[in-house]
Amino acid sequence: MPNQRHRALQALTNRTTERVFPPTDKISDYFGEDVFNMNRMKESLAPDTFKKVKDAISKGKKIDVDTANEIASAVKTWAISKGTTHYTHWFQPLTGSTAEKHDSFFDASKGLETFKGSALIQQEPDASSFPNGGIRSTFEARGYTAWDPSSPIFIWGRTLCIPTIFVSYTGEALDYKAPLLKAVEAVDKAAVKVCQLFDRNVSKVNASLGCEQEYFVVDKAMFNSRPDLVMSGRTVYGHNPARGQQLDDHYFGSIPSRVYNYMKDFEIEALKLGIPVMTRHNEVAPSQFEVAPLFEDINVATDHNSLLMDVMKRVADRHELKVIFHEKPFAGLNGSGKHNNWSLITNTGVNLFQPSSSARENLQFLVFFVSTIRAIYKNADLLRASIASAGNDHRLGANEAPPAIMSVFIGSELTAVLDELESNGNIKVDKGDNMYMKLGIDKIPEIILDNTDRNRTSPFAFTGNKFEFRAVGSDQNTAGPMTVLNLIVAEQLKDFHAQVTKAMENGEDKKVAIANVLREYIKESKSIRFEGDGYSQEWVDEAEKRGLSNVKNTARALDAYLSERSVKLFENFGVMSQIELEARNEIRLENYIMKIQIEARVMGEMALNQIIPAAMKYQNKLIENAKGLKDFGVDNSHTIDTLERVSRNIASLKENVSAMIEERKQVNLIEDSREKAIAYCDRIKEKYFDEIRYAADQLELNIDDEDWPLSKYREMLFLR
Ligand code: ADP
Ligand code: MG
Repeated sequence: MPNQRHRALQALTNRTTERVFPPTDKISDYFGEDVFNMNRMKESLAPDTFKKVKDAISKGKKIDVDTANEIASAVKTWAISKGTTHYTHWFQPLTGSTAEKHDSFFDASKGLETFKGSALIQQEPDASSFPNGGIRSTFEARGYTAWDPSSPIFIWGRTLCIPTIFVSYTGEALDYKAPLLKAVEAVDKAAVKVCQLFDRNVSKVNASLGCEQEYFVVDKAMFNSRPDLVMSGRTVYGHNPARGQQLDDHYFGSIPSRVYNYMKDFEIEALKLGIPVMTRHNEVAPSQFEVAPLFEDINVATDHNSLLMDVMKRVADRHELKVIFHEKPFAGLNGSGKHNNWSLITNTGVNLFQPSSSARENLQFLVFFVSTIRAIYKNADLLRASIASAGNDHRLGANEAPPAIMSVFIGSELTAVLDELESNGNIKVDKGDNMYMKLGIDKIPEIILDNTDRNRTSPFAFTGNKFEFRAVGSDQNTAGPMTVLNLIVAEQLKDFHAQVTKAMENGEDKKVAIANVLREYIKESKSIRFEGDGYSQEWVDEAEKRGLSNVKNTARALDAYLSERSVKLFENFGVMSQIELEARNEIRLENYIMKIQIEARVMGEMALNQIIPAAMKYQNKLIENAKGLKDFGVDNSHTIDTLERVSRNIASLKENVSAMIEERKQVNLIEDSREKAIAYCDRIKEKYFDEIRYAADQLELNIDDEDWPLSKYREMLFLR
């Protein structure tokens, strides 16, 4: 009888490449074709209505009922002309994916298609099926979604999707987007005030985000033959292939044709949805790839990343492939991240992290640059918490990904600039002095432009005109970390503005005041800057000496959200209340517990139902063989040696699985989520997983290839 693995291998031999052709050669012909974008709005709305929508988008103004009705009617006409039958409020609940509940345009009582402004603006999904962390008692298990006009409406499949926020009836956020919008507003306000010290024309500052999304691709039959991949998104067993990533031959190598066509296909879908996907290439590990869209406004970029992940999952199906977003699906190979490239850009078109040829603008650049570094320094634990998840725990600090220690890389040139500024002592300028020269900031531009310093081991790196937050996990919603980043920078900019204003009120020259405040910041936050190899043990030791924290697991990292300082920070800027923060932590702890629990279960089941039976079959073959050799008077010590090894591993596997099951029963009795999460981490994952895996992987190595029931790494990872 062929086992699942044999069937998967058989399926693989029958695969053909689905060749994909774009609708036309010119991307501009179909880019945004399924989006109700600004142009379409302008065409289909009265000028007055269009202006109101624009104000709602840029100034956050409320949309009245009549306007909403007009927009709804235009949207409906467009959607129906494109063959759409249903609409949905599209949102990002705290489960980690996207959610929708479809309603038909067709109104049976009237016998025609309708779509009212009220349905555009607000809906009541069945909120009880989404996690809320205890915010809603069951009898008030209601929540509503509200239209976010700043993210464009789109058609996906045959459904009109309206991006929305999701909140409880008592007003607490139940999704990722609502707090992000508030944090973005906070950074906008604070940054505008700081910009106005330099340029009175600045009235808005937009946060931008460009996500580099890493992922693995495996054949669908292979994927389905592995209960661990199906249940937990990662392989809990599997011996390393003879050829892993040692040769680094995969990076930027040629993309296997099946994957190439898959990429082309999902890119076309993404482009139609207005997602500006730009680059595709291989990553370091076999079967690992990356897609990066051009950066956009942070809210739209976040929606687009969630949507893109969804598109990638669905399109993979057409190619008999599975896309894996887990942060560490294969042990011994590189994990996957989602680099968050972030910057702040003014309404006047200035990227505040772009050193310029004007010395005056460079002072402004330094303000934002140094302030961001100080924000990271002061809130490293919170930033660490923002990227905590069961999946990302495998990746951070695994000597192949940014460590769990937060630090900032800025490159040698900017280090020199900051050093000079720091060593300047209190600056005094006389009339006629070249103040910028005195500060040593007159000469930044040319050095940065040819700055090719690319440290890839830093969790938070300056890359010429933006910061790149690399520690974000591939499966995470960017809104979590981006809410924290924008919030902490908002607080920092507000502090800066207050300090400088105070000094100016005391009669200090503006530029001098700015330089002096910056110097204090540079000194204070020096320990967060690190230019060396972030993957090394030396850095772990050095960071400890510097007093930087290194929280290795989610169960403990999440505490940082509930520290007195964090709660105050979130509340002061109106981003989240203590209740909301507590609810979110509760959800994340529950999620963590559930993930480890599932992994533990699937580990146990696979050991008992698949691995041990296969090993026993081989054991019997060895016994037969040993007996036969003995009958013929031939030395059977090698067979017995193997038999003993196999038997030892079977015993170890059985014992550890049983012990883990017993321990889980104990751990499950713990009521408090935090304690339970810590117990799952220490008493289940840390205590058993490696040992159980070791025995199973030894068996994989030792027993007859024919008998092994699980698709092997080499079979899954070398798609051609
Ligand atoms: P690399 O792999 O070298 O880091 P990529 O080109 O793969 O670079 O990705 C860089 C990402 O950064 C892209 O999504 C790009 O659009 C984005 N990006 C570039 N400039 C900015 C900016 N000013 N703000 C935010 N993101 C940016
Ligand atoms: Mg990058």
